Amino acid sequence: MWGHLGNNLINLGIYEDIEQAVGVCGMNLRTLLAQEEEPGLGNGGLGRLAACYLDSLSTLQIPAIGYGIRYEFGIFDQEIRDGWQVEITDKWLQYGNPWELARPTEAVTVKFGGYTQAYTDDEGRYRVRWIPHQVVKGIPYDTPILGYRVNTANTLRLWKAEAPESFDFMAFNRGDYYGSVADKMTSENLSKILYPNDEPLQGKQLRLEQQYFFVSCSLQDVLRLHQRCGLPLAALPQKFALQLNDTHPAIAVAELMRLLVDEHLLDWETAWEVTQKTLAYTNHTLLPEALEKWALSLFGRLLPRHLEIIYEINRRFLDEVRLHYPHGDDRLSRLSLIDEFGDRSVRMANLAVVGSHAVNGVAALHSDLLKKTVLKDFYELYPERLSNKTNGVTPRRWLVLSNPRLTSLICDRIGEGWITNLDELRQLEAFGEDGEFRSRWQQIKLAIKTELAEHIKLRTGISVNPDSLFDIQVKRIHEYKRQHLNVLHIISLYHRLKNDPSLEIPPRTFIFGGKAAPGYFMAKLIIKLINSVGEVVNKDPDIRDRLKVVFLPDYNVTFGQRVYPAAELSEQISTAGKEASGTGNMKFALNGALTIGTLDGANIEIREEVGPDNFFLFGLKTEEVYGLKAMGYNPWDYYHANPHLREVIDLIAEGYFSHGNKDLFKPLLDTLLSSDPYLLLADFQSYVDCQDQVSQAYGDRDRWTRMSIYNTARSGKFSSDRAIGEYCEEIWQAVPVPVEVPEYEQAKAGLQICNVKF
Ligand SMILES: *Cc1c(COP(=O)(O)O)cnc(C)c1O
Repeated sequence: MWGHLGNNLINLGIYEDIEQAVGVCGMNLRTLLAQEEEPGLGNGGLGRLAACYLDSLSTLQIPAIGYGIRYEFGIFDQEIRDGWQVEITDKWLQYGNPWELARPTEAVTVKFGGYTQAYTDDEGRYRVRWIPHQVVKGIPYDTPILGYRVNTANTLRLWKAEAPESFDFMAFNRGDYYGSVADKMTSENLSKILYPNDEPLQGKQLRLEQQYFFVSCSLQDVLRLHQRCGLPLAALPQKFALQLNDTHPAIAVAELMRLLVDEHLLDWETAWEVTQKTLAYTNHTLLPEALEKWALSLFGRLLPRHLEIIYEINRRFLDEVRLHYPHGDDRLSRLSLIDEFGDRSVRMANLAVVGSHAVNGVAALHSDLLKKTVLKDFYELYPERLSNKTNGVTPRRWLVLSNPRLTSLICDRIGEGWITNLDELRQLEAFGEDGEFRSRWQQIKLAIKTELAEHIKLRTGISVNPDSLFDIQVKRIHEYKRQHLNVLHIISLYHRLKNDPSLEIPPRTFIFGGKAAPGYFMAKLIIKLINSVGEVVNKDPDIRDRLKVVFLPDYNVTFGQRVYPAAELSEQISTAGKEASGTGNMKFALNGALTIGTLDGANIEIREEVGPDNFFLFGLKTEEVYGLKAMGYNPWDYYHANPHLREVIDLIAEGYFSHGNKDLFKPLLDTLLSSDPYLLLADFQSYVDCQDQVSQAYGDRDRWTRMSIYNTARSGKFSSDRAIGEYCEEIWQAVPVPVEVPEYEQAKAGLQICNVKF
């Protein structure tokens, strides 16, 4: 989420007033804002997307609740020691959290484990009761999420796990006081820590417990809110839309059925209709290894009733499938909610698709590929269920708050309408031809780069030249995102400069940031490689400061707000077909950075919007990637055919960047030369050639600045307001509910509260 204070001040329209008031007290507001701990409640783009969507929901005055877990320890803090990542516990709650309000009276209980019993009730109905092994209490903690200059305040409701008192007492009465405290600790472990794996996720029991805990708490909460309004549960879809952010909460399909059938006594058919009409599912990944599966043994032990319900959903679903495909075929086994191969497991994506009325991908290419690959069978069965909702980011945080200088220049020229209607940025296009405007634009970028240079000096001790091209790649470290392809290009430039010191290229600063999952060896080795190359390049007197390589530790939202505005070149270089959308790419373009990228995820739509002349395109297209792999891709062919590529790789292999140690980066090079699953070698030359075009374009500052202005001016589509508008119209049937608060207006006019005059 990042800190709430700055965002709230902006959305309330009192940022400048408070800045002044704080100044009167002899303080600086930015310094003050920097003191706030960032709630790191997610891993990367997926969680941040939800945060942007909450901002837009409030700004568009759509009543909404964002549900999640109140992790005591969020995503780890990253330190770099000797070039390696070291993980530090994120103690974001240690000094308290002033924004949250605990709501203990709204607590709910969640069951785990045990067994089920079928019986016939007084009215002769078949029923099932679930006798759990353990019960945990979920306490909601609420944080208000304010809209921009409107009276809507939505709620972020995060669940904390606690031991229920009754269980404590049982143990206590048995005289087992220590045992009861141990139980309490086990329960509280549920919301203790965020799993730091981005994608693929780790298939750990505690992770499934967390998913079920958060889903059950949230669904019970929703049903209670609905019934409090005196409405029948059959009317749930008219009042609530529940959007599943990836498969992490997909157990909601079975849990909503259980609540409706077992606890609220709806018949199966009605419950199923309510479930399907209420739920919708967003898919966020095409990586096959990231599709969630849970072993039946684990699943059945933890959620025995849900496994029965899933079997029943599956039985009915496969009967329906058979009607479509009477001659049977292996479609049935592919569509089944149960994977019968190897270690039998529940397929969470299949469960989410079957239980939802709408399924969407997050960029045009991604939605298209879903139809052709992972969800092909489902698309053929339910073609109208799949749609695209291209991601977006909030302009309030990612431009107004993070880039006040550019915001002020834009407001001077075209007013403030763009803040809530980002398409209005198009009016800036005309200023591309205005020399004075271009020079203001340049000055602002330089000022922001200078600040980042100071920050870099402070954090890493490395001096960088603010006049050099700031070439930035910040995102989770992952092989498919190919930070190591960026490194191969750095080594290529370095090697060329060493061989020909007279080579005319503009000086560049390469900035990296991103966390690696603690158990992802290859990602951690990539961090070490970046730092090792930096160590050699930054110190080499032959280079004379023409190249600098910086790895900034602990990339998070706070730090993102510093780097996106300072960027001139945005690295979006994933293997085509691997990045579902990306949102970092949008933040960069909005702040006037040019993109070097593949035709992947939302890069394609960014290129369409800003125009091919204002985008540096390279690399294989998705179809070509598939084709090459089908033909039997052999990276050695590229290594042998391209002498320059060979020089670059050999430099690493010979230990040039590792004090002569030839083993250090061997695992990375072995992967590249043996299988290279992300096709770095195939894309290398195209990338290097494209980077040479970047260098050339940067030499003409007027041309570059014009391109930069066009990137900002044409980024309107990537507002999360546009994305949320599409979800509202096409999936949720949700409309704005403006909040009129006459009392509040009166209050502002002269009410005294606690001796503070408003
Ligand atoms: C936007 C953002 C991301 C997502 O970046 P991608 O480049 O789309 O992977 C990850 N982490 C943080 C902190 C972000 O702000």
